[in-house]
Amino acid sequence: MPGLVLAGIKKTYGQVTAVDNIDLTFPKGKLTALLGPSGCGKTTLLRMIAGLEDPSRGTISLDGNDITEKPANRRKFGMVFQSFALFPHMSVAENVAYSLTIAGVDKATRRARAEELLDLVKMAGFEDRRIGQLSGGQRQRVAIARALAQKPDVFLLDEPMSALDAQLREAMQVELRLLQQKLDITTIVVTHDQREAMTMADQIVVMSNGRYEQIGSPSEIYHRPASAFVASFIGKANFLKGKAKDGGVDVSGFLFRPEPAASFLNGSAVQIACRPENVSLSSADEIGPNRLAGTVTFLRDIGPTREVYVETPVGTVICEMPASTETVFSQGETVSAEFPPHALRLFPDTDDVAGAQSRSDTGEGGGSIASNKQDVAA
Ligand code: ATP
Repeated sequence: MPGLVLAGIKKTYGQVTAVDNIDLTFPKGKLTALLGPSGCGKTTLLRMIAGLEDPSRGTISLDGNDITEKPANRRKFGMVFQSFALFPHMSVAENVAYSLTIAGVDKATRRARAEELLDLVKMAGFEDRRIGQLSGGQRQRVAIARALAQKPDVFLLDEPMSALDAQLREAMQVELRLLQQKLDITTIVVTHDQREAMTMADQIVVMSNGRYEQIGSPSEIYHRPASAFVASFIGKANFLKGKAKDGGVDVSGFLFRPEPAASFLNGSAVQIACRPENVSLSSADEIGPNRLAGTVTFLRDIGPTREVYVETPVGTVICEMPASTETVFSQGETVSAEFPPHALRLFPDTDDVAGAQSRSDTGEGGGSIASNKQDVAA
């Protein structure tokens, strides 16, 4: 099951290193999402895989065959671009069958294949429409059908949902995932949207600054982030900075004990990450290990969940609970926030977490580097 393998792939443009020495395997028949902030190198990596850019260094192989030097038009890879790039002067069926026309396939076979593919993407009956007469979602289906016309060995998609509105995007993510599973095709999707990656992917590669921080299933990435950057880029996290002390962490005089115990040298700078849904609140004014007393400053119900902001001596802590929770907290109330030992993730305090968080919001690249050897991060 080798699939597509990158070894030591690097791409520089003058002084800019867009992709930096990446070793990565895209398993056969699986969907991998390349996820990261703007400028982290996702598109450059995808374009090298497609054969649209030459790597400055390294090799790309498919099922054991080196394809690094193979031109894009001989790779038999299907590609869907952000803009869909359909031909407006052609009908839907002509667009879908375009690669078959180039390959010299006869008209009747082309039409039959176009009909089959349009049926697959739920666009049967649209064969003779013009592209200008389609909605955004329909155009995307046509672009997908066109990319699949030549039964590609690898299916590549660059921000395929970005032109669609939020509701349609969610529906298309599910549809695309089901289609990929049905066709059992090795697929790589570039996205900066964590929800999109988590909806569709078997494997997520979280990228930053031309390298990757972690590779794992959506659940691994969320529940066991390998770095503070990943913990801040994927979902929300409370961060507490402190110093390692006897297997725990001293945060400004408050002791936190993780499970298993921390393996940092006493005195080293450590930061703790804890997901808001893992912090529990009680109105009791209790203190002790893994607890912070504080005052509720803000509450909001967001559909199924309720967020409570608590001002503590070491900063604001966000706690998330089901909106149906019976215990009601009110602004100004004194509470105790408990951080369960098993929910604490510890990282060396070398990461610019706040910076990574703001960059993920603004779409800029950032964060520090954990590793670019797949076996280390996996
Ligand atoms: P986005 O989500 O914004 O598309 P990305 O993660 O896909 O970003 P890339 O487009 O791969 O990022 O760019 C990675 C880095 O390489 C950026 O710093 C970018 O400015 C640089 N870069 C990309 N293409 C070129 C080029 N042709 N010439 C010079 N620099 C480039």
